[in-house]
Amino acid sequence: MSYPNTELFINGTWTPAEDGRTLPVIDPATASEVGRVAHASISDLDLALEAVSEGFKVWSATGVFDRYKLMRRAADLLRERCDPIADIMTTEQGKPIAQSRVEILAAADVIDWFAEEARRTYGQVIPSRQAGVTQITVKQPVGPVAAFTPWNFPINQMVRKMSAALAAGCSIIVKAPEETPASPAELMRCFADAGLPAGVANLVYGDPAEISGYLIPHPVIRKISFTGSTPVGKQLAALAGAHMKKSTMELGGHAPVLVFEDADIDKTVAMMATHKFRNAGQVCVSPTRFLVQDSVATQFIEGFTKAAQSVRVGPGTDPETEMGPLANDRRIPALERMIEDAVSRGATLVTGGKRIGNTGWFFEPTVLCDVPTNAAIMNDEPFGPIAVINRFDTTDAALQEANRLPFGLASYAFTTSSETVTRLQNEVRAGMLTINHLGLALPEVPFGGIGDSGIGTEGGSDAIESYLDTRFVTRMD
Ligand code: NAD
Repeated sequence: MSYPNTELFINGTWTPAEDGRTLPVIDPATASEVGRVAHASISDLDLALEAVSEGFKVWSATGVFDRYKLMRRAADLLRERCDPIADIMTTEQGKPIAQSRVEILAAADVIDWFAEEARRTYGQVIPSRQAGVTQITVKQPVGPVAAFTPWNFPINQMVRKMSAALAAGCSIIVKAPEETPASPAELMRCFADAGLPAGVANLVYGDPAEISGYLIPHPVIRKISFTGSTPVGKQLAALAGAHMKKSTMELGGHAPVLVFEDADIDKTVAMMATHKFRNAGQVCVSPTRFLVQDSVATQFIEGFTKAAQSVRVGPGTDPETEMGPLANDRRIPALERMIEDAVSRGATLVTGGKRIGNTGWFFEPTVLCDVPTNAAIMNDEPFGPIAVINRFDTTDAALQEANRLPFGLASYAFTTSSETVTRLQNEVRAGMLTINHLGLALPEVPFGGIGDSGIGTEGGSDAIESYLDTRFVTRMD
């Protein structure tokens, strides 16, 4: 496989940056440069803005059934091209090739779901108080969108925003991740090859702060969608607010996992260890704080540690690999600092804790136990392959710890007591709760956080709403 250089996609054309600037793309398994990505400057952004403005006129006037058909074609192309795109994604992001394939096929399902939803953006007829008066609501696309997507799921993060926008009749500029640019470009190519008119979707890379600082306030842009860290999300949401623009924010989490003594511990360990080390823990819904009831804590820790030690770490291109490298070198010192801080405050490092080798950005699957709540890792998202396992005695104590942080994205629980399930359902403060199985992130279910984890949803029927304006019309005939 030869890894491609990535250009900007503006007004239906693949193009280098006007000033020719590029950035290196690094394979995280070898830390060596594999390609280059075009770096947009303001003049490129101006071209993209002009294109997206014209693209909006075309796409919002395109019949919904034609939008649906085009999106379904793009989904089929993505499925057909799954294997070569997976090779590209693994090269730039590091995840095992099987996980890249799953991400791409899941993305095709997301496109299909939103294509179908496009046909169901119903308004209402509201009974009127007066004879002869008709009151209706009409759904219309909000306008051109600016979307900012991160490197952990290069295709999945983009496809949710792009599909919802296109289904609603919006045009879009995507600022995709500079670290992993080529697989999002392949997603864009599927839409282009499916016949998307020029200007409807545009793709740029460059300096994230410069691009968001220019696009968000720009009068052409009417809606913002961002996935990334909470501090950056707060800045971008404030900027969107200052210019009175709608925004969807999918931000950080710190998922609690409540394991009660009546759960099947071996099954829970097997399921959650696989889930924890998926994508090397660089997942916003990654299980982070394992809270295990006292009487089963030792069994859980022993089982989980064994599972962590048996994870096969290696290059994502090796089909035997279960966990690839971290996606960028920033994560290594960040994880090392968090582990050192936890241990200095009295935590036990049960296994892992170090970088593996000195080629590429591999890190040991790590387990920390009995970590005090004032440790950094108990408060900030680790975004890496570290499981924290703490103990609790009562359900009240477990709930108190689960709800301690300002985040509220994913949460997990394992118990066979229906009474406990009812309490958790009512009292865990999180946008998503999955009990006794893993059921998050399907296209048809809500995906989003509450509190510091963000605003809005990127899945389910509500996701398209934030790309639509609801207008009211009352008429007397
Ligand atoms: P970061 O906060 O610098 O960047 C996170 C993402 O936001 C990147 O894609 C980056 O390009 C983008 N970004 C940063 N500043 C921006 C700006 N001013 N305007 C527009 N986009 C901007 O952190 P990082 O080192 O890339 O990742 C570390 C942290 O980011 C993690 O600890 C995690 O909390 C968070 N993160 C979350 C997700 C997610 O899925 N929610 C994905 C990636 C990163």
